[in-house]
Amino acid sequence: MFQALVILLIFLIIMMIVCVRIANKRFIRNRENVVHLIWTAVFAAGCYTAFILVPSGYNTLATFASGLYFLSTDWLVVYLMLFAAGYTHVSPPSRLPRLIIGFLAGIDSISFVVNTFTHHMYSLESRTADNLKMEYWHVQLNAPHTIHRIFVYGIVLYSLCIFTYRLIKAPVIYKRKYGSILLQVVAVVGLNIICSIINTKYDYSVVLYASLAISICYLALYASPKKLLERIHSTIVEDSVIGLFAYDNDGRCVGVNSVAKDLFSGEEDIYDIAQKFLTDWKEEQKENSANVIGAERTIIKNDEKIYIYVNYQKFVDKKGRDLGSCFQFENRTEVVKRYKEEQYRATHDMLTGLLNREAFEEEATRILSRAQEPYCIVCSNIQDFKLVNELYGTDVGDKLLIAQADIIRRKNDDNSVSARVYADKFCVLMPRRYFIEERFLDSVSSIIESGLTRAFKLHFQFGVYEITDNTESIWSMYDKAILAIDAIHGNYDQFVCYYKDELLQHIMKEKEVLGEFDKALEEKQFSMFLQPQIANDGTIVGAEALVRWIHPEKGMISPGLFIPTLEKAGLIQKLDLYMWDNAARQLEEWKRQGKEHFSISVNISTKDFFYLDVCEAFKDLLNKYDFDIKKLKLEITESALMKNVKETMKAIDGLHALGYDIEIDDFGSGYSSLGMLKDINADILKIDMIFLQETKNVERSSTILKNIISMSRELGMPVITEGVETKEQVDFLKNVGCDMFQGFYFAKPMSLENFEKEYC
Ligand code: C2E
Ligand code: CA
Ligand code: CA
Repeated sequence: MFQALVILLIFLIIMMIVCVRIANKRFIRNRENVVHLIWTAVFAAGCYTAFILVPSGYNTLATFASGLYFLSTDWLVVYLMLFAAGYTHVSPPSRLPRLIIGFLAGIDSISFVVNTFTHHMYSLESRTADNLKMEYWHVQLNAPHTIHRIFVYGIVLYSLCIFTYRLIKAPVIYKRKYGSILLQVVAVVGLNIICSIINTKYDYSVVLYASLAISICYLALYASPKKLLERIHSTIVEDSVIGLFAYDNDGRCVGVNSVAKDLFSGEEDIYDIAQKFLTDWKEEQKENSANVIGAERTIIKNDEKIYIYVNYQKFVDKKGRDLGSCFQFENRTEVVKRYKEEQYRATHDMLTGLLNREAFEEEATRILSRAQEPYCIVCSNIQDFKLVNELYGTDVGDKLLIAQADIIRRKNDDNSVSARVYADKFCVLMPRRYFIEERFLDSVSSIIESGLTRAFKLHFQFGVYEITDNTESIWSMYDKAILAIDAIHGNYDQFVCYYKDELLQHIMKEKEVLGEFDKALEEKQFSMFLQPQIANDGTIVGAEALVRWIHPEKGMISPGLFIPTLEKAGLIQKLDLYMWDNAARQLEEWKRQGKEHFSISVNISTKDFFYLDVCEAFKDLLNKYDFDIKKLKLEITESALMKNVKETMKAIDGLHALGYDIEIDDFGSGYSSLGMLKDINADILKIDMIFLQETKNVERSSTILKNIISMSRELGMPVITEGVETKEQVDFLKNVGCDMFQGFYFAKPMSLENFEKEYC
């Protein structure tokens, strides 16, 4: 037993020295405390071994050696306490308690050294064990030794408390770190207490001190940090947001974390999936003879697209030998979704979901660059869309646009693309053969009939540009389609217009007109022509004033060539004021000359009501010229009356109040001619020439004419028919009771000079 103990102690001492050497090489926090602890344990074990080896008879030497052993236990527990604080990251006792503890340990140590001579702490006695026939030192403890015990156990208890506290508080993966040491310290103390209670021949707890020191060295410097690191690593891997498939050097799947399981879970075993994933990946690499480490992939899971970024990583050792590999999967669905949303916002019109201008340009250019057949661009417009917003509110306007977008979207496929370019302007690029007029009109008729705009009749217009040069800029094509729409403007019977180069020429002409207009007006290039109006007894009763532009270079220009342009540009009122002025001045002139003279009918454009206070203008004429008010007749077209019913009515009432007679011009050319007669307070009805022009059904035209005339007679309104070109027409009209005629049959519009020559 004795020899075994000695051998064991020597072995442990050697082990501890080896431990210190290893610990010294490791750069780990708390290393110093560990090293101190082990050195003290080496010292304690050494002293104890020396003590038990001292032969009987050498009492003083044995007392000195055992004294050194006892005092070393003081320092052993002090270092244990410091180690415990460092290991558990509990702050060690502050300076003063530390000084006190050090002071007490010092006093205790001195006391043990002095004990060699005084024997006040304990005394030794050489005894012989009966069974072993062997001598040993029996330690006879005195009362002061208890103080040493209290000190030692007190500090051990404090250390135990630190470990216990940490053990309770720490997360599971840290419990082992504290638990293992706590257990060993308890064992050492326990054995020490047992040894002293049953008073064994040897203090076996020395063996445990030494083992504890070695164990602490192992746990603190090596096992615990490593285990902990492993556990932390595995926790990181498991709880990571990155999915992982791990493979050994033979390419066998050896690990799959929960994220990857979640991403790939299906009917198949996840390891099989992982295995297949690697095989496919390698196959792909071979095919593309590439060595890609990252790639984007999509997985469909629960009918939802999941975007992942796959990263492939190989591991090799220092010598470049294959250790294994892994796939990392980053779920980027949220990022991709956000990116897609942003992209959608940047490329789409938010109201209708169609592409916006920029995206349309890009897509259309792309389609045209690979087009194999003729294409066209179709633009759509709603006539007076602004009015819809004003009359019914923007909500209805928006609904209208959305409904239109839905129809357009239905026409989209890989070969075509559509966009909302601006306000109510939609645009579609499509193969030419797709554009079938009737189908387009049919599709919008559902919107017209939806009743969104109630009484307001929607007028959809389509401008078509048939592309001849695919490299032309998209916006130049678009402009041409819009030009075609502009050509429809105001024509309620036309829905579709194809762009032709003449349209462009027309635009150029318009530009020319507008460029020259102000100067022409200033230089009085506009001249008043007069076309006689004849009563049914053949006498001339008046004339209509019709403008002619006598251009210094181009000669005489008909109003049809410039009036619509001036109306569109908002300039017509300037010309009309000029014409009205001319007519009034001429009436004054005739009156002054005292000649027998006629009435003059002047035209009032629809647009005049927008830009002018028409009433005021005619009032001014009365102040400016001296003429008979009944001789100046005012022609207002039926369409003007229909468009701005309220304002026009007000103006008519005003003009009536001044004493003017109003003629309804072009009656029968518009839509609701008959119905409006009851509301409009007009004096003369001027029937449009369409009834006289050659129509397929002469019978019907005649019947209508007959009825209009008889109805206006009943209403007490004289009727004048314009565009009379033949004697037959005159006879017929006379027969049905028409009061007056105007037309080429009697005379074409002529200059004032000619008119006066002929009739005055
Ligand atoms: P409107 O007011 O309906 O004038 C009658 C037009 O019919 C005139 O055309 C006249 O020359 C034409 N016309 C008369 N008799 C016949 C006929 O027997 N057969 C045919 N085929 N045509 C006939 P014009 O002078 O070219 O004027 C065209 C239009 O221009 C006018 O139509 C009127 O709306 C507008 N206009 C003419 N002068 C003025 C003006 O001073 N101010 C405004 N705002 N518009 C004017
Ligand atoms: Ca007229
Ligand atoms: Ca007319």
